[in-house]
Amino acid sequence: MSVRVRFAPSPTGAMHVGNLRTALFNRLFALRHGGTLILRIEDTDRARHDPLAERTILDALTRLGIGWDEGPYRQSERLDLYRDAVERLAADGKVYRCFCTEGELESDRAAAVAAGKPPRYSGRCRTTPPSNVGDAPFVWRFMTGDRPVSFDDGVRGNVTFSSADFGDFPVARSDGSPLFLFASAVDDAEMRITDVIRGEDHLSNTPRQLMLFEALGVPAPRYHHLPIIVDDEGKKLSKRKGAIDPAALLDEGFLPESIVTGVALLGWAGIDGKEALNIEEMATRFDIGAVSRSPSRYDFPRIDHLNVTLLKETGGASLVPLFAAHGLTFGGIDPVTVARLVAGTVKRTDEAIPFALQFARPLPPDDEAAALLADPAARGVVEAALDAVGGGYDAVIESSRSKTGAKGKALFAPLRAALTGRLTGPNLKDLFDTLGSAALAERLSLTVNRWRS
Ligand code: GLU
Repeated sequence: MSVRVRFAPSPTGAMHVGNLRTALFNRLFALRHGGTLILRIEDTDRARHDPLAERTILDALTRLGIGWDEGPYRQSERLDLYRDAVERLAADGKVYRCFCTEGELESDRAAAVAAGKPPRYSGRCRTTPPSNVGDAPFVWRFMTGDRPVSFDDGVRGNVTFSSADFGDFPVARSDGSPLFLFASAVDDAEMRITDVIRGEDHLSNTPRQLMLFEALGVPAPRYHHLPIIVDDEGKKLSKRKGAIDPAALLDEGFLPESIVTGVALLGWAGIDGKEALNIEEMATRFDIGAVSRSPSRYDFPRIDHLNVTLLKETGGASLVPLFAAHGLTFGGIDPVTVARLVAGTVKRTDEAIPFALQFARPLPPDDEAAALLADPAARGVVEAALDAVGGGYDAVIESSRSKTGAKGKALFAPLRAALTGRLTGPNLKDLFDTLGSAALAERLSLTVNRWRS
């Protein structure tokens, strides 16, 4: 049977790095096994629906090279399927109508907890079907049968849930609209999914979904639950801290390889993370059994480091189209040269565009540069530099040093500030060598004239 996996995001807001990992591991698994990746948008929760989120997801998958082979399917367009499934279960007596109100459920839960029992549904409507309920709203509840469920998880090994872990659970509302866990299982069955790869936060849904497969008379997929992701403090990665916007990162100069490698490191021990790999390279080695069970720590600086290394290795080639996209041109200077020099000096990816901008044109000093240039000693350094600017870098340094006695930071910082309007940027000698004496003279004069005016 050929492998069929799915990525099933709920479009409820910003992307989380955990979702991205789920998508990536599904892609790697599909490639490794010659299978098919299906994209399914789980958009039945209209209250939490964010119309932009689906576009963000599709965009991220496409631009990172994860893609999908079938879909996107939208659950909101498949409601008949879930309604039919509820009807089938109802006809077989496997679901029943539950008219309990929120208040009743709440006091049942409180009573169970007070008695030291797990807060599961009491089963009231199962045993005593209500009469005379008129058109009161209800939910369809699945009859669990109160028995333990075990399964062999591809990552976690044997997992057993005792019957005490769940009670009869709702699958749909009176109008037939499905609850998340149910729609997901019906779709997995209908789409003939062979392997479900998803985050560990869904682990406790699995026994319930396995019961649903059995009740629907269809074979269940194999499950693989990926470890939780934690922050620096070891706490579950919040929505905010885990938010990731792949499109924005790509626009900033991150390469897809760095992002997917950094994300793959969240649990997969099959790579060491010293170099960025592309999806095909990873897929040849991917083994879901080599995914760790212990929590993985999200480390964004690691992704950044991978990217800076890759930028240097490739001579900044990927920056050239990025400059064009940002409308950056460099007069007579070849963008390829700027890209190489920028890639060679950035310590963080988000410096690439600001550094390149310093080759493009003179910039008005930012606050830090302005404060530094307000110092009369700095002024002396810059004026001496202007006198010698035709002679190139060494002559300029020599002139400033001999005329002012400044050295080290007191010498280089004012020069950099005067030339670029910034205190950090590309290598100073590279700037001199690349800009040429006319542009250098223009920039230094601009600074000097600002003082004189
Ligand atoms: N829609 C669910 C989520 O975004 C995933 C459900 C599943 O993978 O079974 O968390």
